[in-house]
Amino acid sequence: MTLSEKDTLYNWHPYTQHKTAFPHPVIVKGQGALLWDEHGKEYIDAIASWWVNPFGHANTFIAKAIYNQLTQLEHVLFGGFTHEPVIQLSEKLATILPSNQKKFFYSDNGSTAVEVALKGALQFFYNKGQKRTKIIAFENAFHGDTFGAMAASGISFFTDAFQGSLLEVIRIPVPTEGNESMALERLKALLETNEYAAFIFEPLVQGAAGMVMYSPTVLNQLMVLAKEYNVFTIADEVMTGFGKTGKNFACDYLEQQPDMMCLSKALTGGTIPMAITSFSQEIYDGFYDDDTNKALFHGHTFTANPTGCAAALASIELLQTEEIQENIQQVYQHHLAFAERIKTHPKVKTTRVLGVIFALEIKVEGAHDYYGNLRNTLYEFFIKKGIILRPVGNIIYILPPYIINDIELERVYTIIEEALTLI
Ligand SMILES: *Cc1c(COP(=O)(O)O)cnc(C)c1O
Repeated sequence: MTLSEKDTLYNWHPYTQHKTAFPHPVIVKGQGALLWDEHGKEYIDAIASWWVNPFGHANTFIAKAIYNQLTQLEHVLFGGFTHEPVIQLSEKLATILPSNQKKFFYSDNGSTAVEVALKGALQFFYNKGQKRTKIIAFENAFHGDTFGAMAASGISFFTDAFQGSLLEVIRIPVPTEGNESMALERLKALLETNEYAAFIFEPLVQGAAGMVMYSPTVLNQLMVLAKEYNVFTIADEVMTGFGKTGKNFACDYLEQQPDMMCLSKALTGGTIPMAITSFSQEIYDGFYDDDTNKALFHGHTFTANPTGCAAALASIELLQTEEIQENIQQVYQHHLAFAERIKTHPKVKTTRVLGVIFALEIKVEGAHDYYGNLRNTLYEFFIKKGIILRPVGNIIYILPPYIINDIELERVYTIIEEALTLI
């Protein structure tokens, strides 16, 4: 039996209909922006393995930090104990996050970071004896796949089967160009009911929706409104965090500061699963009491794992180097040039660029399902050509490791141009 056949025998993959899925390539090695399968075929990882890997595969700087930590103290429970790596990491985050982010709660993945934020908002009002039990979110949002995070997500086929078992989340339109006032009006109407605890959003870019972008100006306005009505704002930076938008965080484009932030994905440079929910002092103080029952009774076994913290510290150190900051700017400039070159193509409806994120919408007739035929044709073509891209519906996006070189990036662009001739 081949490895791939064995995989099919035992493994259940994410978002996969196994009846129609092709065998999965067996990846055996990574280096920089490249991956190789068991037959020696080379792939360019043009989506940084689901947006987690900014500094390249098998990065030795992060690997050494992990090795050193593993051989010093691999793990210790965070209930009742603490350790130096987590203290250093929180201290570091306090210097690079918006200045009102004061307290850091550790978990394992983006979804749990969102759960913790939602629970933080809901229990804050519960502790105060106020009835605010609903959440506001954008249409087509993606905040993860656990129950709370899924409730906040608005991509219907991810959540349809679970309607009736979910938190109450009401949606407002995404304030893309031309829809700003509609979003503002809808938010205001909801806020006036005083039933809401929090407004959660992916700041500036909705990743899973297909890198849908909107302006910092309108997000500032939405946040000002929420603040006026004492509704907490939650910036889910799980995708946008750590340099993707060209700044450390998408929130760095804003004048307003969110009350909470969710971080994961690139936090450890794509090495160890870890996540953080950061809080303002005000929210923390809403749990700070002589009454034990007012504590946040949430935790995960591996919370604040020292090895993960060491990986995150090394990653942030890399992010802050001049070299990586230059890489981000170079990718951005290349994306802008590619957008310019492709935007008048007869098959291209529109292009979007922010930081290392590039998206292109293909002109198509009628509906185009998220995981539909067009998407599958494109996906298979890219894989055949050795480029890892996961189009959504009619949208092709690139989110490469920052260290991707010019030749590799140009190859990604060229293959996308070739793909446009297929449809
Ligand atoms: C990926 C993602 C999540 C979920 O993270 P997981 O680690 O997959 O649970 C949440 N929010 C956003 C914005 C994401 O992109």
